[in-house]
Amino acid sequence: MSDKRKILVTSALPYANGPIHLGHLVEYIQTDIWVRFQKMRGHDCHYVCADDTHGTPIMLRAEKEGITPEALIARVHGEHYRDFQGFHVAFDNYYTTHSDETRYFAETIYQRLKERGLIESRAIEQYYDPVKEMFLPDRFIKGECPKCHAKDQYGDSCEACGTTYTPTDLINPYSVVSGAAPVRRESVHYFFKLSDPVCQKYLREWTTGQLNETPPLQPEAANKMQEWLGLEGENKLSDWDISRDAPYFGFEIPDAPGKYFYVWLDAPIGYMGSFKNLCNQNLPSPHGGGVGGEGGLDFDEYWSKDSQAELFHFIGKDILYFHALFWPAMLEHSDFRTPTKVFAHGFLTVNGEKMSKSRGTFITAESYLKQGLNPEWLRYYYACKLNGTMEDIDLSLEDFVARVNSDLVGKFVNIASRCAGFISKRFDGKLIKVYLNGETQPSDGEDHLDPVTEQLRDARDRIADYYENREYSKALREIMLLADAVNFYIADKKPWEIAKSLVSATDEETNNKNQLQRVCSIALNCFRHLSIYLRPVLPNLIKEVELFLQVDTLEWKDAEYCLPEGHKIGNYQHLMTRIDSKLIEALVEANKTNMQATADPEPHSEQRHAEHQQHTIQPIAETIGIDEFAKIDLRIARIVKAEHVEKADKLLKLTLDIGELEPRTVFAGIKSAYDPAQLEGKLTVMVANLEPRKMKFGLSEGMVLAASDERGGPCVLFPDEGAKPGMRVK
Ligand SMILES: [Zn+2]
Repeated sequence: MSDKRKILVTSALPYANGPIHLGHLVEYIQTDIWVRFQKMRGHDCHYVCADDTHGTPIMLRAEKEGITPEALIARVHGEHYRDFQGFHVAFDNYYTTHSDETRYFAETIYQRLKERGLIESRAIEQYYDPVKEMFLPDRFIKGECPKCHAKDQYGDSCEACGTTYTPTDLINPYSVVSGAAPVRRESVHYFFKLSDPVCQKYLREWTTGQLNETPPLQPEAANKMQEWLGLEGENKLSDWDISRDAPYFGFEIPDAPGKYFYVWLDAPIGYMGSFKNLCNQNLPSPHGGGVGGEGGLDFDEYWSKDSQAELFHFIGKDILYFHALFWPAMLEHSDFRTPTKVFAHGFLTVNGEKMSKSRGTFITAESYLKQGLNPEWLRYYYACKLNGTMEDIDLSLEDFVARVNSDLVGKFVNIASRCAGFISKRFDGKLIKVYLNGETQPSDGEDHLDPVTEQLRDARDRIADYYENREYSKALREIMLLADAVNFYIADKKPWEIAKSLVSATDEETNNKNQLQRVCSIALNCFRHLSIYLRPVLPNLIKEVELFLQVDTLEWKDAEYCLPEGHKIGNYQHLMTRIDSKLIEALVEANKTNMQATADPEPHSEQRHAEHQQHTIQPIAETIGIDEFAKIDLRIARIVKAEHVEKADKLLKLTLDIGELEPRTVFAGIKSAYDPAQLEGKLTVMVANLEPRKMKFGLSEGMVLAASDERGGPCVLFPDEGAKPGMRVK
């Protein structure tokens, strides 16, 4: 096949410090559908990915768990791989960046950039944790926003007012690791000179598509790049700091002891590492009959400067900067090929809002599968929503149930379940040949063509174009319109009525019998066509369809024709069940976690996707009567004592006086925002008639009121002057 393409595809590497959730899966499902489509087209397509394993968060997380970083990343790798398999994401290789291959390419690229004079070292001043004895990444420093004075904001930006700044701008900064006040300390860092005219010029040409046959970026991404690059002659890019000081989990820089490659340097290099590892697995054995057989993969064919293969990166829009600026500049100047295209997608919202732990919409891949939900329901729904742009996509849980039930069960599976029985029972499972335009027809004087089968076949190139351009929503809309046409055909021909009429052995009956076989054969051939078109999205379901139809693995070229005369199908077994909305309710319930218990104290630096979304307004709770409100006994309380609780990450122990004989003890999740000393003696508001709760650290006899949301908090309520302990708050 002369037009056989060589294609290498990647998805962004998930960070090895947390579980895969439905937000991540948008990208892996999007990529997997595209890869499966390319493979069905007969191209040489390889899909590689890996866990992104380096950096400070991994190091600290492992330390907290009392294990080595290697043990942590090995465990997480297993969890990630299990989750991806659970959703039928079929990587050709799922590797790790903590590998010899990735180290080799990181060192090679670094050496070559250095030879070109594109690496520079200089001393910079950074925040340093004097207790933990380590330099602190921006996200490990918190403090008061210099602009709006919101407390506990990260060192790079304020979540309350959106201002971005450097940690030096924070008021009263503290280390998230030890709580100590960070000090400024000088250290030598290594930089990739992105501001060098050579890099600037190259990136200007690359991002605007002057170097490729087709532009490597989506239009909105290219615009973003123009913004970052500035006008011609303007030098807006600054050098990229690619080193970190020990202690750090990563690769030590060869000629710089105690200095490590920054995780973002080796993360994209992990694509090369994973592919190299695949090539090694594929090497034909010297004794013949190796795993890869004769098709042994050649790394250079895909990565050398003059490679004719295509390289596609699927990423989230939040990491465009790394993939559209740093990455091509690094590759170009170290004599490797650059990406053919970078495809960025938007974020996932659930029910129109940011994924939320308290609402139960921060759904992990594992919990989805554990609830017994079919992974292909989600694959189908995402595909219905995905297009080639960077727009966010919404998982509306109600719409999810409705759409899967109506499209997949009501329209698609329905075709087979309505027609298969007649063929099995009355025709020994045999279909008659359905002719298509262009084929030689039997010379019996009858017209053997039918518009519905022509319609199904004629859609193949249109649907292929949609898949190729990642316009999955358009592809599926088209496929479901075709399914409608087939259902309409069945409703019009009414095979069940023809079957009822077959009562006596007359000539008429023979005619009707032929008619019944013809109608069902047409419908089932159409069902086969729909299955071809749906296979990239629903690989497992279509495998079952192949068993039922007794056909080989369906390829795209199979859409050129229908099944041969007398083809025998298997017995129909139910292919897919409807979603019971109770399952969805249970899923949300299972993912609902107490906000106080999980307000995540860990910095999200280097975590991808859904984590950095805009604040959204939460709906006001349902209306209640004054009587219901009156049931809550709110009292003014004096904080007699406030203490740290040993081994509690979030809690402070408060001793509260509300005018009773004995003071009350309350454990409050406010440690992240308050120093005990600043609370003692103050008045606050407590819920006095809340059922006492036994906690790990003791009995909590009430609750103090505090405000919080994504923008900050908790902020404890303090009453105005004149309030006395024990006063009722109404
Ligand atoms: Zn602010």
